Amino acid sequence: MSQDPQRHLSKQIQQIPRSGIRDFFELVLGRDDVISLGVGEPDFASPWHIREAAIYSLERGETSYTSNLGLLSLREEIARYVAKHFDLRYDPKSEVLITVGVSEAIDLAFRALLNPGDEVIYHEPCYVSYHPSITLAYGVPVRISALPEDDFSLRAASVEAAITPKTRALMLNFPTNPTGATIARKELEAIAELAVAHDLIVLSDEIYSELRYDDTEHTSIATLPGMKERTIFLHGFSKYFAMTGFRIGYACAPPVLTEAMMKIHQYSMLCAPITSQIAATEALRHGEGPAQEMHQAYTNRRNLLLSRFREAGIPCFAPGGAFYAFPDIRATGMTSQAFAKQLLDEESVACVPGDAFGPTGEGFLRCCYAASTESLREATKRIGRFYQSHL
Ligand code: PLP
Repeated sequence: MSQDPQRHLSKQIQQIPRSGIRDFFELVLGRDDVISLGVGEPDFASPWHIREAAIYSLERGETSYTSNLGLLSLREEIARYVAKHFDLRYDPKSEVLITVGVSEAIDLAFRALLNPGDEVIYHEPCYVSYHPSITLAYGVPVRISALPEDDFSLRAASVEAAITPKTRALMLNFPTNPTGATIARKELEAIAELAVAHDLIVLSDEIYSELRYDDTEHTSIATLPGMKERTIFLHGFSKYFAMTGFRIGYACAPPVLTEAMMKIHQYSMLCAPITSQIAATEALRHGEGPAQEMHQAYTNRRNLLLSRFREAGIPCFAPGGAFYAFPDIRATGMTSQAFAKQLLDEESVACVPGDAFGPTGEGFLRCCYAASTESLREATKRIGRFYQSHL
């Protein structure tokens, strides 16, 4: 009698689902006719000067390991960048850890912080890795909704209602994937007060912080009173510098937390790839101009997408950041999954069903506008036609 191979797997891994985004994209694979607003990454290649820096470093034979924390020269650039753009001062020698993307930094942070059964509050709809990363670190994910009626921003009252004696950490992400939501400083201040009062650690994923529109302000929670010592500031190069494939990010935190994350990183990863670290150094030294040009392109595309949705009668709040729009398809009476699948079948446009990012995303669709203007024009024409015909 054959035995179930699942028996070899840990309880942790059996608990976590596959990413809803990946499932959906298997349907798209091998279909050349599809316009994709699906994958959350820039359609631009990394700017040439960044690629060139990587190529030259290989020509020079720079192919070794680096310090576990990462190249000191990169950590110094990061400390300068974070001071300039976020008004946060970190010691590059003891408070900055270079990671393999923000993805690894999130995993390290949860593994460094959590004991089995510790609760972590996170707001959804959200990036798909938070819930599984908490579970894999033996924590208990506690989800709170960021509601459509608040333009998917988070309310301090929702955080407060979810706090229990077991709450250990709070995961924040503004601007938010998948909604593009931002948060008002006043609300963030109230959340910071809760974190201090309940002795919580905050993980702040600020990967989209430069990609903001309509003069939307951004405050890092780490700058608020009493917060720097209890915040792990997470950032990276994938989005603003269009460097997803380099797999490079960083965590800034007080020395004890940085050291704890570094201990896991040194045994699991040893260090981030040196070529990517050199490319990231170049991005920080000379990358603002090209990054701002890409930002301008996203601004134009966002405005195009929003005006096309308006013309088609599809409700969509104006996202303050990231490169996603989150239109409301509830008037069709279809589920997000059904809408996205049929849109793909009937109009060959791929968007991600909103519920792939948490139950509060049901009735919405994530459209990534890091795509060419031409694709956006055609895609919105087809989405508008599809929406109207299913009302
Ligand atoms: N955090 C958020 C909110 C994201 O949207 C993503 C990627 O889509 C990541 C983290 C992962 O970024 P990285 O490429 O740095 O691992």
